[in-house]
Amino acid sequence: MKPSLLALTLAELQALLPRQPRFRAAQLWDWLHRSRVDDFAAMKNLPASLRQTLSDGFVVRELREAERLTATDRLTEKWLYFSGDAAIETALIREIRGRRRTLCVSCMCGCPVGCAFCATGQGGFTRPLTAAEIVEQVYRADRHCAETDGAGLSNVVFMGMGEPLLNYAAVVAAAGIVSSPDGLNLGNRQITVSTVGIPAGILRLAQEHPAYRLAFSLHAPTQALREQLIPLARQYPLTAVLPALEIFANATSRRLTIEYCLIAGVNDDLAQARQLNALLRNLPAQINLIPFNPIGGDARHWRPPAAAQVRAFQDALKFPATLRAEKGRDINAACGQLRARTVEKEELKN
Ligand code: SAH
Ligand code: SF4
Repeated sequence: MKPSLLALTLAELQALLPRQPRFRAAQLWDWLHRSRVDDFAAMKNLPASLRQTLSDGFVVRELREAERLTATDRLTEKWLYFSGDAAIETALIREIRGRRRTLCVSCMCGCPVGCAFCATGQGGFTRPLTAAEIVEQVYRADRHCAETDGAGLSNVVFMGMGEPLLNYAAVVAAAGIVSSPDGLNLGNRQITVSTVGIPAGILRLAQEHPAYRLAFSLHAPTQALREQLIPLARQYPLTAVLPALEIFANATSRRLTIEYCLIAGVNDDLAQARQLNALLRNLPAQINLIPFNPIGGDARHWRPPAAAQVRAFQDALKFPATLRAEKGRDINAACGQLRARTVEKEELKN
């Protein structure tokens, strides 16, 4: 497989072309990130010999679209791509009122964390994605949005498959490219990194990129319950994660988002809402409640709570709490579900 040039910085492109005049790298950058052409032959102001050398050694695009699904509400769309041995899911979520067009990107194929309630975690881990594979998810969806909505993406969230802080370098390189003023020019605040809680990664992000929004997937008000839901919580206990989150919060003026996936009879009791209030008292937090999206496997008996219980839980919280509306359920919009379904279909065929 030839490598992609999509995630190289301008300086890295310059280093790649040592015998070319310096402006060549800038021209190449413009083709990749402003015009966003699909192949080197279209890069008309580059000498033919250079175009040939580049296409001999590199590619501009590497994702192959395997499937694209549109939800019946037409607001949510989902792609499944293949890239080498990796299946990659990307979801586009449009909000009519907020006029937001948010892309939920994957940073891994599968996830090594293995959370009990997550289709991605239950489906196993293939490999981390490269920065170029992440950037390409963004560029493809941005073009699609521009064509269908007349405007490109407004937000990118790392909430698809994988744990971003276990693929830190690729995630930060991809975020740097899509926020570059000489490219897509997405504001740092329009980029959200969602993490299951890797303290060293949170601290590094606080130091290097405090302008990105941070979301922390908590899901339980106690360490014991969290360990049951998230195997990695044993290695990274709340006593280490919460202080790291406080440091991140001090590096920015914005609230942290706490994600809490509500599962009936597991973590939706009002006493647990009160425990959450106590646990998070030192954090400038806003809580995002996500009703559990049923998956198969060991978690097949779990259900989301009834709407009244969700509301009561929300009311018991002392923090601003939003409820994530279910979007695109008919197209398996929860992360990892499309890959699981497609892999099942492939297995049936064989
Ligand atoms: N690994 C990162 C980011 C990807 S998961 C993280 O865990 O934060 C993105 C979000 O989807 C997480 O908050 C996760 O808890 C949630 N999620 C995963 N499976 C879900 C399901 N079956 N129902 C509802 N939310 C789910
Ligand atoms: Fe990985 Fe996040 Fe799914 Fe857990 S919830 S398995 S960390 S993708």
